[in-house]
Amino acid sequence: TTSPTLTALISVSDKTGILEFAKELHALNVRLLSTGGTAKLLADAGLPVTEVADHTGFPEMLDGRVKTLHPKVHGGLLARRDFPEHMAAAAQHGITMIDILAVNLYPFEATVAKPGCTLEDAIENIDIGGPAMVRSAAKNWKDVTVLTDASQYAQVLAELKAEGKTSDKTRFAASVAAFNRIAQYDAAISNYLSARTEEGTLSEYPGQMNSNFIKVQDLRYGENSHQTAALYRDLHPAPGSLVTAKQLQGKELSYNNIADSDAAWECVKSFDVPACVIVKHANPCGVAVAANAAEAYAKALKTDPTSAFGGIIAFNREVDGAAAAHVAKQFVEVLMAPSFSAEALEIFKAKVNVRLLQIDLPPGGATPWLQGRNLGDSKRIGSGILLQSADNHFLKKEDLKIVTTLQPTAQQLDDLMFAWTVAQYVKSNAIVFCGGGMTLGVGAGQMSRVDSTKIAAIKAANAGLELKGSVVASDAFFPFRDGVDVLADAGASCVIQPGGSMRDEEVIAAANERGIAMVFTGVRHFRH
Ligand code: 5GP
Repeated sequence: TTSPTLTALISVSDKTGILEFAKELHALNVRLLSTGGTAKLLADAGLPVTEVADHTGFPEMLDGRVKTLHPKVHGGLLARRDFPEHMAAAAQHGITMIDILAVNLYPFEATVAKPGCTLEDAIENIDIGGPAMVRSAAKNWKDVTVLTDASQYAQVLAELKAEGKTSDKTRFAASVAAFNRIAQYDAAISNYLSARTEEGTLSEYPGQMNSNFIKVQDLRYGENSHQTAALYRDLHPAPGSLVTAKQLQGKELSYNNIADSDAAWECVKSFDVPACVIVKHANPCGVAVAANAAEAYAKALKTDPTSAFGGIIAFNREVDGAAAAHVAKQFVEVLMAPSFSAEALEIFKAKVNVRLLQIDLPPGGATPWLQGRNLGDSKRIGSGILLQSADNHFLKKEDLKIVTTLQPTAQQLDDLMFAWTVAQYVKSNAIVFCGGGMTLGVGAGQMSRVDSTKIAAIKAANAGLELKGSVVASDAFFPFRDGVDVLADAGASCVIQPGGSMRDEEVIAAANERGIAMVFTGVRHFRH
């Protein structure tokens, strides 16, 4: 054999695929350098490998805290091969070049994700030497190939076999990937520590907005085909959130599918009884509660069967055969539920394009989930980002203030609470007519509350639904009496709204005059 031409340093915590990679490198005459655990694995498989400690003449020490932090390692990674001064200095100090670096880091993220992880465990899993080597190699990308993920091994081997070296393109891409990985790793550390006190307990005011995201996938395109897009998830997703979904069948989810599915899922989660939510263009176009999933769907569909075509449907109960048979009658984009019966899965097998998502409900039921929801909301603006905490106000019946002489009945109060919950998930200005545990007309996203009310009434009429005796929710207060007049004209018998307008008295007087009951919530739910 000819003398080795290239040197690879391999130091990995996750040993997946590393032995095969090292074997192939060895077959290509690449000299192998490695740290303790990795070196043992390679040597046990019969590969000739030099321990970094032997290479530097300096032992691994301090429980592994210092293994590769040595000029013979960093010089070999950082020296510019095209600078004679660099090469001369390296030669003078006995530093030999390292051409390939394969490193993955101490499993910090996995360690802190384990229940019961202590501050001590977390800190011991902060890799120091690994990121340092990765940065050195990534900086010197013109001469060094840096591998931070097992998925990169095959491409590098293929290029080494074909050309005896890697391409500029591959090395640059690997350098970018390496810096991305380090940024992600450091963000995970900063995120974890930011939320804690020096005793390791969660601090009272954790940096909730300082979220750390992991890329899930690139998406085919964004809202429109000329926009690029990707999905990221929180490092530690909240149980029961959309990003924890398992896709059981169907085409890949699109950007709009994901956005709409999230709206549907967040809404359906807020009901304790069996519920169905149908979403189109980010707004619920049908929501209902019933004794079971099939009935809830039948009711939700009635609100706006035209818009429900190609809709996104969410259930908070198992989709059984009856519900599946009903849903399968029409064109559906996405269907999500905590579970699907065998019969339901069989029905959808024939509809290969329907995307089925299984998502666990958050533990503890709807109310604790809503109250415990503390994830932030964000909106990108020109060169900036707006952050706010979640709209997690949970209204209790006791909080309602009846302001009219007419009092709502117990049944009407239940419908008002239902309407209020739905309105929270409708884009402002939101007007939601309901009755008998279902939406009857939804007016969304208008600049004027009166227009939203008129649209909701028109939609109810189009669907052949009766608004006489209905209840209605308004996501924000009525600034004038005109909104009250429009909904009284439409047939509403009572209304739930925040109150707090300068003209509350005028609005209450209008309700009394028109013979409708009115309750104030004291909070509003703008959603944009
Ligand atoms: P091994 O299993 O080979 O003994 O250790 C591999 C791990 O050690 C890799 O995750 C690598 O990033 C990490 N590592 C390499 N050099 C150093 C160092 O000098 N200090 C620390 N803390 N970790 C290192």
